[in-house]
Amino acid sequence: MRNRSIDPRRRVPRTDVLLADPRLAAAAASHGRSRVKAVIVGAQERARRGEIRPEDVPAAAVAALPGGGPQPVINATGVLLHTNLGRAALSTAAVDAVIAASGHTAVELDLNTGRRAQRGRDALAALAAAVPDAQAVHVVNNGAAALVLAATVLAAGRDIVVSRGELVEIGDGFRLPDLLESTGARLREVGTTNRTTLADYSWAVGAGTGFILKVHPSNFIVRGFTTSVPVSELVTLGVPVVVDIGSGLLTPEPLLPDEPDAASALRAGASLVTASGDKLLGGPQAGLLLGDSDLVERLRQHPLARALRVDKLTFAALEATLRDPETPTWRALRARPGELHDRVERLREAIAEAGHKTEVVACVAVVGGGGAPGVELDSWALSLPERYAEALRQGDPPVLGRVERGRLLLDLRGVPADQDDTLRRAVLRVLHNGPGN
Ligand SMILES: *Cc1c(COP(=O)(O)O)cnc(C)c1O
Repeated sequence: MRNRSIDPRRRVPRTDVLLADPRLAAAAASHGRSRVKAVIVGAQERARRGEIRPEDVPAAAVAALPGGGPQPVINATGVLLHTNLGRAALSTAAVDAVIAASGHTAVELDLNTGRRAQRGRDALAALAAAVPDAQAVHVVNNGAAALVLAATVLAAGRDIVVSRGELVEIGDGFRLPDLLESTGARLREVGTTNRTTLADYSWAVGAGTGFILKVHPSNFIVRGFTTSVPVSELVTLGVPVVVDIGSGLLTPEPLLPDEPDAASALRAGASLVTASGDKLLGGPQAGLLLGDSDLVERLRQHPLARALRVDKLTFAALEATLRDPETPTWRALRARPGELHDRVERLREAIAEAGHKTEVVACVAVVGGGGAPGVELDSWALSLPERYAEALRQGDPPVLGRVERGRLLLDLRGVPADQDDTLRRAVLRVLHNGPGN
């Protein structure tokens, strides 16, 4: 009997205890008890064989769940909007709104009259209120869909006049020119990579022009001998000007002086502005269209609009984001370096008390995700030997840092402060177990 308490295999948690773990209980509710039980037994057997420690059985069972759903990760990369990590993290208000909308909701019904109502009208009203310069607004699936809709409606079989300096690839092989041409529009490229003048546009504009497109080169900068034409001058050429601002700033942001915003573009005379919802706006994936009411109405009426329409969950998250713009993205952007330093220092101290040495280092974070190229945000990171990167990435929760000059940096600018405890535990686990685990 005495051996019982010593043999680690005896410490493997019992099935009923594991089934009470909230994560496994939730899985049992959605996937069925027997499937989850099988997963639990598998994890228990691994512990009995000595492959994993008894205390790791719950995490191993969770990791082995069938289609366990997306796993939250800690973004310590220092890239605030990381495309591979889902760009913007939603605010608590947006998450609550998504949960509330996940059942039946009056997305297309007026509860006062009992009649059909405009789909997503509350989110659209919030967007219109956030940008009073827009006569009308519309929302589609993402920024690319917004451009496709605009190009289809305004320029199919016609020319889109665009500067050669703005024919950009956004990422993962998504090239703006290919996307625009896929709608049946013809691209009329003007100017050069570094310089395009009003005269270049003026020569190209004619009876066959659908619109002039101005694109924010959102993930690179061209420096030196450069010229581009502001929206206020393009609008003098007598054709609609569509501005793809990319990152979804609705109004000017003093922290990002070179980042274009929707209100300024509209005030300068743009007919239509397109943007993403999940970049600097900090909301769900969405494509925002803001501009002239006639134009927006034509977009809304086009058959393609139905194929690009957004889900009720998107509307819910977007509305919440617009009404309370204190998103994780904005907090990360605004965080003061001193604050970040204090957080990293507390982390280092707690880890030192547990007997492990790490360092606090100054570093530079970026906005990323197609926003504010060239902007460097002073930040602070916990520095570990590079060999821990893999174990942290495969941990529970996974922690993503960045490797710089042979060190693994865990940059806190993109980590919400309420994740510091989770981060500390994840780091400690890996430091205890060693990099091979
Ligand atoms: C990100 C971006 C897009 C594409 O938007 P998605 O929401 O990713 O589809 C288009 N244009 C610009 C300038 C961008 O920055």
